[in-house]
Amino acid sequence: MSESITRRGFMLVLSSPSGAGKTAIAHRILETEDNMSLSVSVTTRSPRPGEINGKDYFFVDRPTFDGMVQRDEFLEHAEFCGNCYGTPREPVRKALEEGKDILFDIEWQGTQQIAENAREDLVSVFILPPSMAELERRLFSRAQDSEEVVRQRMATAAAEMSHWNEYDYVIVNINFEESVKNVRSIIQAERLKRLRQNGLAGFVNAMRSQTILP
Ligand code: 5GP
Repeated sequence: MSESITRRGFMLVLSSPSGAGKTAIAHRILETEDNMSLSVSVTTRSPRPGEINGKDYFFVDRPTFDGMVQRDEFLEHAEFCGNCYGTPREPVRKALEEGKDILFDIEWQGTQQIAENAREDLVSVFILPPSMAELERRLFSRAQDSEEVVRQRMATAAAEMSHWNEYDYVIVNINFEESVKNVRSIIQAERLKRLRQNGLAGFVNAMRSQTILP
């Protein structure tokens, strides 16, 4: 490809009720996509066993979070099950400008805010579980949260799922590998979108102006 064709990055948002598999899908995608990085959110939630500060989340207290809101440091932020979550704005701006894609594991309120502010840079995917029974089984088998937290998350799952029709793509996560393959197909297609490829007009015009010898 000509050096004059560059690409603006996009924001790939994966949303789903807790336990539908989006975090596992996100991690697998990041293992194989060179040009994609994860947006690390800030949260007031306590770390789960095995979670690392700065990698899974930036874990902060409520006054720190509120200070970031006041200084307009979030691209979006929302409250979920009694905790606050937000996406730092600056790393996203930088990545998009450099033509890098960013993956977000965020819920529907945050996705709506990004859609309002940057629709053209957003590609949104909603992951559905195959059934409520399977969602409950996955949440309990993950064994990272207390029973009370799992019950709270199950209770919000139906409300979260009602937002499926605000997303560009919907995947029913029956088979993990198949779902990962589907997300990769979405990434491939979105990278080829005409509007994301800068300099195409110049490239085509230069080619058309070249004389073809008889
Ligand atoms: P968890 O506590 O299970 O890690 O996340 C709870 C929910 O918050 C998930 O649906 C997750 O996608 C969402 N979430 C994580 N980070 C953010 C964020 O920065 N903004 C928003 N709006 N949601 C987030």
